[in-house]
Amino acid sequence: MIYYGKQSVSEDDIQAVVDVLRSPLITQGPMVERFEKRMAEYCGAKYAVAVTSATAALHIACRAAGLGKGDMLWTSPITFVASANCGRYCGADVDFVDIDDSTYNMSADELEKKLAAGGRPKVVVPVHLCGQSCDMERIHALAKQYDFTIIEDASHAVGATYKKTRVGSCAYSDMTVFSFHPVKIITAGEGGMVLTNRKDLYDKLEILRTHAIVRDPERMTHEPDGEWYYQQIDLGYNYRMTDFQAALGYSQMDRLEAFVARRRQLAKRYDELLADLPLRTPKQDSDTNSSWHIYVVRMDKNRVNKNKQVIFEEMRARGVQLNLHYIPVHLQPYYQALGFKKGDFPVSERYYEEAFTLPIYYDLTDEQQETVAKALREVLA
Ligand SMILES: *Cc1c(COP(=O)(O)O)cnc(C)c1O
Repeated sequence: MIYYGKQSVSEDDIQAVVDVLRSPLITQGPMVERFEKRMAEYCGAKYAVAVTSATAALHIACRAAGLGKGDMLWTSPITFVASANCGRYCGADVDFVDIDDSTYNMSADELEKKLAAGGRPKVVVPVHLCGQSCDMERIHALAKQYDFTIIEDASHAVGATYKKTRVGSCAYSDMTVFSFHPVKIITAGEGGMVLTNRKDLYDKLEILRTHAIVRDPERMTHEPDGEWYYQQIDLGYNYRMTDFQAALGYSQMDRLEAFVARRRQLAKRYDELLADLPLRTPKQDSDTNSSWHIYVVRMDKNRVNKNKQVIFEEMRARGVQLNLHYIPVHLQPYYQALGFKKGDFPVSERYYEEAFTLPIYYDLTDEQQETVAKALREVLA
């Protein structure tokens, strides 16, 4: 069976993990810092804080932005639920901005309309769907005009670029979040990271990761009682990444460029292999170079009269497991209970009717990809 995503773990990666397991510090040792530093340098950002997942990263990013009860977070309906849930963790309200019908990212036009209509988010979370950056220049200009914090959810976009900057540079945002879940571009088993150029945010992120406990007398309310002394100065969490996970993430960075190059090659091949099928292949904005975490196609409903469940079944019978990214978040029962309903974000809902995800990952061979294309040709015929 060909699945939609799969990690690629080398013998060097395994050795890097084993080396840490034989060392005295298996959590909060030197590898966490090395991984953070390497990622920050790669992206061109000043600071990075590694945590247990992108979900945790989004949570502490919202906390660092000061998001709380009575505030509002906006994100895209076409994302993983974590991009919205981070607002709810902080007690804030969540609302959505409909997507652009060609890139499937948050529409900057819709965002502008919603702001002009009086919406006042404290935090906006643009999601770089598939690994293609959102229109960050416009979103950044709107942030200046309307005073909100931008947290990029770049879980799909490690290795992607936008207008000559690397996603993660935070050139157009306050913070950027990455995921190192095994299906993503590089993995740490589980893991996430927040990048930022702002020292004030970095200081907050760093303590929120570990119970908001400080040992630096400068940050205490009074002189330490003694050398054992520490203070908890806020409500933090245990979101620490282990050193052996950081070693895996660090080692995977050796192949990051190769991972992304292969994904780009596979995406280009899909564009060609599927060109004459009744589908819309992904459209790339010229400002962006995607990292291709996923390859999403949309069927032309006027030319395909099979329903999606049948397509999934017939593809599985041919050895290909399709997927769908994503079910619009506002249609989840949890969000419906908060008042959202079908029809609220029509462009996202139409996308959901038509989209599905084809397998794409570093180790997918040309032959396997041809199997996928051939199966799809038969199923859609
Ligand atoms: C995977 C993903 C997350 C969550 O990442 P974890 O590391 O699994 O917590 C958040 N947002 C998006 C867009 C994702 O794809």
